[in-house]
Amino acid sequence: MISRKIAETSIDKAKKLIEHAERIVAVCHTSPDGDAVGSCLAAMHVFSAMGKDIRAVVPDQPLANLRTLPGAKELVDALKYPDFARQLFDEADLILCLDFNTPSRTGRLEEVLRASKAPKILIDHHLHPDIDAEVLISHPEMAATCYLLFRFFCRLELFSIIDRPAAECLLAGMMTDTGNFAYNCADPELFTVTAELVRKGADKEKLYNVLFNTSSANCLRLNAYALLKKMEVFADQGAALITLSRDELNRFHYTKGDTEGLVNRPLSIPGIVYSCFMRQESDCIRVSMRSRGSFPVNKICADHFGGGGHLNAAGGEFKGTIEEAAEAFRALLDENKKLYIDKNDIAKHI
Ligand code: MN
Repeated sequence: MISRKIAETSIDKAKKLIEHAERIVAVCHTSPDGDAVGSCLAAMHVFSAMGKDIRAVVPDQPLANLRTLPGAKELVDALKYPDFARQLFDEADLILCLDFNTPSRTGRLEEVLRASKAPKILIDHHLHPDIDAEVLISHPEMAATCYLLFRFFCRLELFSIIDRPAAECLLAGMMTDTGNFAYNCADPELFTVTAELVRKGADKEKLYNVLFNTSSANCLRLNAYALLKKMEVFADQGAALITLSRDELNRFHYTKGDTEGLVNRPLSIPGIVYSCFMRQESDCIRVSMRSRGSFPVNKICADHFGGGGHLNAAGGEFKGTIEEAAEAFRALLDENKKLYIDKNDIAKHI
């Protein structure tokens, strides 16, 4: 048994909305990851088993590995089929907002989402929900939306309807947002739920290969090149920088997702507290930063790169050349040392 976390009033309201709904749309954020796709597909499996007409709409196509999750062929790609997506929203009598906290996170679907008169149920784990929803189930302390969604299904007494495909989608989301149970795993019930999903037939080993161990030869070579030739380590400042220009990306036939996780790699070096990855895009330099402990990369991104995010994961952009962007980062190294709120941050991570 797992503890009850979702408020009874939310469950009561959601139950009524679902009971009365005939046409449901599940929607997630842009560049959908395993948790976003997993939650939309799990909702699709469970509510269609209940006899509901439910469609899962994604603002754009997920990466190829996620398109192998059970039911992924039925996802409606709003980028490819904007009119059909709009029609689904217009005709829906209930919208499930999964794994995002504000309509703008749905990109091109923001307008149709805002315009829709259908009641909405938000199920999400991002901070500061800002959405006009009849039922707001927001639990930032939960590791994944899929984990929260499993709890939601249980509270709706739908546990027995969760079949193998649904279980696999839920587990995919939980594995994605915990890095295959590497972080955000302090909650022991996460493992109780994992055990239930495995018991229902979810193949964790297969999911690991799909989610974490699939890449092209070009992708492997690009990452190897980035680490071998382009990683700068600033040991005295506890920082690292990797930059990739358009030419370099083209040389390795870069496709979306190929540099996923690259920014985290330097953090495995003892003493490196924050890491920055800069990638040249057609109109700007995309900046992404990660850190350990209390070092606030969101502050650096907000103050110098027109962005923001979380304490340990943030992003922004830079207008100029890739070398100018790199120089801007290097110029901040000494100033950033003041951001070590906890003076032991470096020592702690050695
Ligand atoms: Mn998530």
